[in-house]
Amino acid sequence: MPFTLHGIPVSRGIAIGRAYLIAPAALDVDHYLIEPPQIEGEIVRFRAALALVERELDTLRADLAADAPTEMGAFIGVHLMILQDVMLVQETIDLIRTRRFNVEWALTEQLERLTRHFDDVEDEYLRERKADIEQVVERILKALAGASPAALHGGCDEMIVVAHDIAPADMLQFKGQTFQGFVTDLGGRTSHTAIVARSLGIPAAVGVQQASALIRQDDLIIVDGDHGVVIVDPAPIVLEEYTYRQSEMALERRKLQRLKFSPTQTLCGAKIQLYANIELPEDAQAALDSGATGVGLFRTEFLFMNHKDRLPEEEEQFIAYRRAAELMNGLPVTIRTIDVGADKPLDSMGGDGYETAANPALGLRAIRWSLSEPQMFLTQLRAILRASAFGTVKILIPMLAHAQQIDQTLDLIREAKRQLDDAGLAYDPNVQVGAMIEIPAAALAVPMFLRRLDFLSIGTNDLIQYTLAIDRADNAVADLYDPLHPAVLQLIAHTLREAKRVGVPVSVCGEMAGDPQLTRLLLGMGLTEFSMHPSQLLVVKQEILRSQIKVLEKPVADVLAAYEPEELQAALGRLALA
Ligand code: PEP
Ligand code: MG
Repeated sequence: MPFTLHGIPVSRGIAIGRAYLIAPAALDVDHYLIEPPQIEGEIVRFRAALALVERELDTLRADLAADAPTEMGAFIGVHLMILQDVMLVQETIDLIRTRRFNVEWALTEQLERLTRHFDDVEDEYLRERKADIEQVVERILKALAGASPAALHGGCDEMIVVAHDIAPADMLQFKGQTFQGFVTDLGGRTSHTAIVARSLGIPAAVGVQQASALIRQDDLIIVDGDHGVVIVDPAPIVLEEYTYRQSEMALERRKLQRLKFSPTQTLCGAKIQLYANIELPEDAQAALDSGATGVGLFRTEFLFMNHKDRLPEEEEQFIAYRRAAELMNGLPVTIRTIDVGADKPLDSMGGDGYETAANPALGLRAIRWSLSEPQMFLTQLRAILRASAFGTVKILIPMLAHAQQIDQTLDLIREAKRQLDDAGLAYDPNVQVGAMIEIPAAALAVPMFLRRLDFLSIGTNDLIQYTLAIDRADNAVADLYDPLHPAVLQLIAHTLREAKRVGVPVSVCGEMAGDPQLTRLLLGMGLTEFSMHPSQLLVVKQEILRSQIKVLEKPVADVLAAYEPEELQAALGRLALA
């Protein structure tokens, strides 16, 4: 039966394919479909892992010291029982046979099914059995990892990932795979998961409540990433319509390619810089392919996220930053220092109240964390500085709000340079240092920044979050997340105006910069540097090529003077026609 779900559009385009449901526990293991002739081999692999774990547990029990508490023996006995339980063993085998899941996927899927209702159980003894099942599954997965052939990995064509939620770090693992789209129950338009989904360049919708409960494995679904709509089991006529629209969009994208190497300037000849936002050094290639004239934002925290036990050493970071600088071949690469916290927690940070903070978005995030960990910060600064010897590197600091934070940061940069001098390592002594303007306080007190720094970059994602007090990752308040709120527009306009007055370059690197519907507004406010995901670059460029700044100034002034929604809509309408 066809039905439609509505969520938040985060990545444009139309995807048509089979649902590929991912249980949260399954995110840490490889998940791929096996061919029918591989089914029996996969089951043999499973049985071998079960036998191995059984032997391990037997040995553990036999080796128990005579004076070990009796519960220890009982506890191992429970694990041995779970290991033979039909619900775990037979049902996993059924998933391998009927769904053609690889064994790790089948096992974690079955774990999810078995444990789904445990949290609601009142009986503490029963609730604890959930942990036992998880521990047994963990052992089996370890045994499989030891015995598994190299994972085939990679989804199949026309697969659309459906999940309750995906952490940004997990989303990153999908890079390079062949999924056609993403749907999640949770998330907001500028949550980092959505940003990474967008960077994959495939249609995605988040905040599609109940999607992972209502959509079944292998259901045929359409994701309309322009409208945040998911159509499940579509009628043939609907399917035909979307297939047609999909091919129209592909044609449109091909046409846009023609703009790739033309200079970016308005009809009146004003030169505009279009930079790329990247998450990994290799993304620099996509930046170049899109025609970007530099990297306006390299979100380095993604390098740190998949390090479960430790942060990357200086050398490892240096190699990554140098790679981006070298790929960009002299074009500017703006490397932002680590911005962890809120929806980007770091496993290796250790508790320290971080995960338990009631409001992590207002807590020890970004530069606040870096300044609280000066040795870690110095390591990153040295690595960035060393990379500056291999290209045009700039350092960008996230979430600054206080003068003493800027001063401390600049002191640490000086200290990192001194350390490199002592070690005889090269760096660009004139490396530019800039600040993200993403807290309303920073926008309002912008002269404090302009006096101390070389450039600014407006992070509209956080600026909106903090101005409107809307958690950007929370779909429950996503409708209130409004880039066109007069307060947000005033803060952006004020920052641009003040920076222009003293001749300090300023860019916008939040998602607003990549929204073609906002291009004219930003141009009319005086913005000349846009940084966005490479997939957005050509549509924004198209808007710029059609615009004439002089003509935009009056309607933009009207937009900025409008405080009533109707007035604002009317002014925006005039701007669109200007
Ligand atoms: C922003 O806040 O606009 C920004 C670009 O940074 P991030 O999305 O990584 O917080
Ligand atoms: Mg930010």
